[in-house]
Amino acid sequence: MIIAIDGPSGAGKSSLARSLAKRLGIIYVDTGALYRTIGLYVANKGIAADNGDAIIASLSDITLELAFKDGVQDVLLNGEPVGDTIRTQKIAAYASAVSAIPKVREFLLDTQRNIAKKSSVIMDGRDIGTVIFPNADVKIFLTADDVSRAKRRFDELSAKGTLTTLEKVLEEMRERDKNDSTRATAPAIPAHDAVILDNSGMSLEETELAALDIINSKLN
Ligand code: C5P
Repeated sequence: MIIAIDGPSGAGKSSLARSLAKRLGIIYVDTGALYRTIGLYVANKGIAADNGDAIIASLSDITLELAFKDGVQDVLLNGEPVGDTIRTQKIAAYASAVSAIPKVREFLLDTQRNIAKKSSVIMDGRDIGTVIFPNADVKIFLTADDVSRAKRRFDELSAKGTLTTLEKVLEEMRERDKNDSTRATAPAIPAHDAVILDNSGMSLEETELAALDIINSKLN
């Protein structure tokens, strides 16, 4: 079984996917972490986010693997776990830039598809229902208004001790949403057969119940 959860940043995809995976007893795969890891590699090499040629050239120096421990995913970059180093605003902006490059998306295609050959998965990202698994059993496009999404992201960053403002988070989120939804390759838009779930003003529990309704009606 493959469940695809796509949608813009801060919609709560990972919280939803993580709790659904636990409830359904299947693996949760966070594909944004793969793009973030390439962003991290490129940033650490001092390559500018808009230097497409250098980014493409660096792909041959990168091996990526997904590792799971107690259901929690980490990415191994050339054998080393990246952990939370990919969870900064700088790396999010790098991830958004590298993800617009078709060769980068191609590079990550098999890693994503191979996981579903071995087990049932719930995968979150931007193009899971459109490109990675167009035949997914269930496709949910999770969204919310941008101020609600920025508030959630701001709370997450503040809880981790990151100093920022809601205005800055909102501005960066709008920039990233614009890049992600207007790029030529695999734009972050709903698949024609995705169910759109707008969770503005909804709690995680309410979102999970709504998603379970969608899953049950699709599987049955
Ligand atoms: O989901 P997350 O915010 O971690 O993703 C970081 C960035 O990676 C996104 O802004 C998007 O540009 C890119 N991404 C993508 N396709 C995916 C997952 C993430 O282009 N399937």
